[in-house]
Amino acid sequence: MMKNKRFSLKINDNSYSKLLNYISYKTKDEGKSLIKVNKYYASSKICSVCGNKKEKLALSERTYKCECGNIIDRDINAASNIAYEGLRIHYTNLIKQEAGTALLAW
Ligand SMILES: [Zn+2]
Repeated sequence: MMKNKRFSLKINDNSYSKLLNYISYKTKDEGKSLIKVNKYYASSKICSVCGNKKEKLALSERTYKCECGNIIDRDINAASNIAYEGLRIHYTNLIKQEAGTALLAW
């Protein structure tokens, strides 16, 4: 089944969707929230130390090197950026909730 590219993509999409549903269910069950980062967020191209964004980064470049001196594994750099983006989204949502609560208090 996985040899047929078109069919295997559907299987992978379905598996990913099931994984997300399971994670969403488990986080709600634990009283926590799931924050999804935009799939087009350039996590690999952004320096996790200074925020500089590279225009191009070949997939063969496994080590991220920035002008600021940051040299880090590409995947760890991307994971750090995804964590920062998730926290940014989380705190932005908290601020919006606080603002909504403050408006209701008037
Ligand atoms: Zn940098």
